[in-house]
Amino acid sequence: MRWEGARKSENLEDRRRMGPRTLAIGGLGMLVILLIGSLLGIDPRRLQQLVNNAPGAAQGGGGGQAANRELTPDEIRSRDFTATLLAFTEEVWQEQFRRAGESYTPPKMVLFSDAVQTGCGNAPSAVGPFYCPVDRTVYLDPTFFEELERKLGGSRADFSQAYVIAHEIGHHVQNLLGYTAIVDQKRRTSSPEEFNRWSVRLELQADYLAGAWAHYGQQKFNFVEPGDVEAAMQSAQAIGDDRLQKNSRGFTSPESYTHGTSAQRTKWFRRGLQTGDLNTMKELFALPYEQL
Ligand SMILES: [Zn+2]
Repeated sequence: MRWEGARKSENLEDRRRMGPRTLAIGGLGMLVILLIGSLLGIDPRRLQQLVNNAPGAAQGGGGGQAANRELTPDEIRSRDFTATLLAFTEEVWQEQFRRAGESYTPPKMVLFSDAVQTGCGNAPSAVGPFYCPVDRTVYLDPTFFEELERKLGGSRADFSQAYVIAHEIGHHVQNLLGYTAIVDQKRRTSSPEEFNRWSVRLELQADYLAGAWAHYGQQKFNFVEPGDVEAAMQSAQAIGDDRLQKNSRGFTSPESYTHGTSAQRTKWFRRGLQTGDLNTMKELFALPYEQL
């Protein structure tokens, strides 16, 4: 992926220098919000454990003194990369919203290590990248990308990371367009199984939006290099619910899927990439579950 030298967003905050801090939990419904926003299909009970055990979550405020250290060259690179990617998403979505007669308010992005306090509560790195609709911010521990690279066999794949970031920005677009609120409402009115299906729908729509972003971004910035699309597809496959469940416990239970299968995730990302058609984004949301 070609990105070096392009504009960097000013909406990025790097909290990594501060290290882990002791912070209080805030906000009701945080688990569900995190679940919706997280990239990974994490079991809600596991997520609850993670959140409860997040550094600082138990202490509830106070302290918070951590060494202020210099960033490593790798950390500087990941900061520059995410700030540039964020700028790419700002320019694409600003233009698409303008064309639709709407205005786009860009999200913030926070880089952190170990754990982070958000408008949706305290979260550990283990939940993976996520978007908090309450404070309209994407939270990302870039060491997640190192794990992703290990899963994918080692090579540094910038475009795979771009897909991950674009997926989270997709959740912001959904938030602005009202889809997040619809699904959040379903949480209160549906059975857990039915709610999981709505969660899958929202996640696949975010994958579609990530593809659509790449479609328009390529027209504008010509950033795709040979092999990039395949690398992003591999990432989408690696984080399908079926693959994750199979790897972590040896079997899958489709009724507990919250993000969609590997095949579904690659299908909708690819479709967004091919057409960029935002009507398809609306149609996806109205499709019968079996046709997703
Ligand atoms: Zn997601």
